[in-house]
Amino acid sequence: MEEKKRCYDLHSHSTASDGTLSPTALVERALAQGVDVLALTDHDVLDGLAEAAEAARKCGLTLVPGVEISVTWASQVIHIVALGIDPEYPDLRQGLEALRELREWRADEIGRRLARVGIVGSAEGARTLAGGQIVSRTHFARFLVEQGLVKDFKAAFRRYLKRGRPGYVACDWVALEDALEWIIKAGGQAVIAHPARYSLSRVKLQALVDDFKSAGGCALEVVSSSHNPGEVRQMARLANDNGLLGSVGSDFHTPEQVWGELGRVGSLPSACTPIWHDWQEDTPQGYDKGLTAIN
Ligand code: AMP
Ligand code: MN
Ligand code: MN
Ligand code: MN
Repeated sequence: MEEKKRCYDLHSHSTASDGTLSPTALVERALAQGVDVLALTDHDVLDGLAEAAEAARKCGLTLVPGVEISVTWASQVIHIVALGIDPEYPDLRQGLEALRELREWRADEIGRRLARVGIVGSAEGARTLAGGQIVSRTHFARFLVEQGLVKDFKAAFRRYLKRGRPGYVACDWVALEDALEWIIKAGGQAVIAHPARYSLSRVKLQALVDDFKSAGGCALEVVSSSHNPGEVRQMARLANDNGLLGSVGSDFHTPEQVWGELGRVGSLPSACTPIWHDWQEDTPQGYDKGLTAIN
């Protein structure tokens, strides 16, 4: 009899960044949804990994230590998912610490800009919602919804937080080459997150892939809750044409966001080589190091 296929979900968020579940609750939900191998990939922060690893160990789920790094490439914000990193690697930790400081500065700046259009107290409000963890635009969106200023998240981004809107603050995140250096030196694999979401032209997307490959990147997130079926096929082709592996991630943030449920995002097209094809015991190289460090 054919063995049941393992379920991989290699992109998710907890309360350590802009998700609404604690790392423990996230792991428990992943298990209940049939996920065998879960990567926790909070934005620019490793703080949830120790708790997630502990919860995963207790319930027999495999936890891949990860992070989703905010990168600026050709004046665009690009997200790079790192999988199997050693969370103790100093350059990675220092680099992410600088991004946290940038986020603190940006939160104050968003607050000042929203105050100019009559919305007061948003930086404090967002920080309270972040609960002392990293502050993201998601927390500002939640604040705007809770104040009754917009009806939902979508409207918060569309009216206030997207590029070109009053609360948008352009930031220089980390350069692509630097982020990949941290990831690779920390023993991890680098993946371009939701590549179809950046609205890049075909030429620009190929240029991103070229730079990413030159810097040592190895995979595209082919399957994502941000991608429609046509985009999944397109990204699968792009990965194959460029000798890149394929990854799968729900980009889960909250149970309320029904389209990004853990483990429910579809399987990798058979033409793609999965990023996990040479992982030992369902874990990437470097994982042992990471696991030792966070247990
Ligand atoms: P930040 O990294 O702080 O700029 O925040 C980016 C996060 O905001 C993303 O990871 C998403 O979770 C969320 N986000 C971005 N755009 C939207 C949108 N249009 N609707 C809802 N959430 C969004
Ligand atoms: Mn997010
Ligand atoms: Mn992202
Ligand atoms: Mn994400």
